Amino acid sequence: MTEILIVAEQLDGGLHPVVGELVTAAQGLEGDRALVVLGADLNELSKTATSLDVDEVYVVEHRLLLEQTSEDLFVAALEQVCRQTEPRVVLIGRTFLGRDVGPRLAYRLGVGVAQDCIGLKQNEDSGRVVVTRPVYGGNAVATMAFGQQNPQVVIVRPRIYESVEKDVSRNSEIIPLTVNLDSSMMKVRHIERVKSEVEGVRLEDAQVVVAGGRGIGGPEPFSQLSELADILGGAVGASRAACDAGWADHSLQIGLTGATITPDLYVTVGISGASQHMAGCSGAKHIVAVNKDANANIFKEARFGVVGDWSNILPSFIVAVRDLSTG
Ligand SMILES: Cc1cc2nc3c(=O)[nH]c(=O)nc-3n(C[C@H](O)[C@H](O)[C@H](O)COP(=O)(O)OP(=O)(O)OC[C@H]3O[C@@H](n4cnc5c(N)ncnc54)[C@H](O)[C@@H]3O)c2cc1C
Repeated sequence: MTEILIVAEQLDGGLHPVVGELVTAAQGLEGDRALVVLGADLNELSKTATSLDVDEVYVVEHRLLLEQTSEDLFVAALEQVCRQTEPRVVLIGRTFLGRDVGPRLAYRLGVGVAQDCIGLKQNEDSGRVVVTRPVYGGNAVATMAFGQQNPQVVIVRPRIYESVEKDVSRNSEIIPLTVNLDSSMMKVRHIERVKSEVEGVRLEDAQVVVAGGRGIGGPEPFSQLSELADILGGAVGASRAACDAGWADHSLQIGLTGATITPDLYVTVGISGASQHMAGCSGAKHIVAVNKDANANIFKEARFGVVGDWSNILPSFIVAVRDLSTG
């Protein structure tokens, strides 16, 4: 019997980055940690999984789980794994897969589920998991506790926790598990996966992000934001207002209903700092804000701020940064 079961989703043949973050989240709870890896031909992947800070790695190999093309099979397999291992807590990343699989798994097991968690800990008295999650469109954060049923299914937002360090000298035990699956369980199947082309650094992976909001007044200034981002080796982002106006693609939107970013440096230009925007960038280490309104909310979050019209500030800022980076 395991205490905390962490679902090890895959991405491009490796472990999804959220898996290491879930292990960090699990370190804050009491009890043995186990990863469950599901798929086909899992030798390499299970070895990688043992390098994370877990006690066991459950390996579920089944030819129908090849490439995880069906959430239906994934749910069916996870349900069987939970019935065999009886975890107290199940941790799943809030990825496309996790959002779909988590609630369905909880329903099948007849237990509760907490979606989109941005924090979790263990209540010292009850031993139950307590989570925090944004509510009312990100305007408030609710603290919620699980009832008495196990497992407590927690779906954690990616990029909230730092990933645990890999250590190849770790020797977690690999335990094969058998599940019964057949193709009649598969109600929906993925036919094709199309990846959007990204030029330069992916927004979610960037260590520097330069973003524009409604205050920049149109699509053209985004070329200046790109110029600055290029010099800093970063990516361009946008507020929802700028995306809704058609000035930037929606894939660049940062916030509650957009991407969550955790760069070292986040430069915002003409962004007010609404709570729904901040929900996607609160993990940024340093925020630099340019805004003409000294009372804009963004200045409450920013480490450095410049009050003024962006069109007077940005060009000389770009020159200064270029000089520094080439000097
Ligand atoms: C359910 C829900 C989900 C949402 N999800 C998101 C989300 O994921 N991401 C998101 O961004 N928003 C989201 N929003 C919208 C959010 O509430 C704000 O409306 C939005 O973030 C505002 O974008 P903005 O800061 O670009 O625009 P504004 O709030 O209009 O701010 C523009 C800023 O630019 C400044 N400015 C104007 N002119 C200049 C100038 N010349 N130079 C310098 N500064 C200037 C102004 O002082 C102002 O502070 C969501 C809203 C809801 C209800």
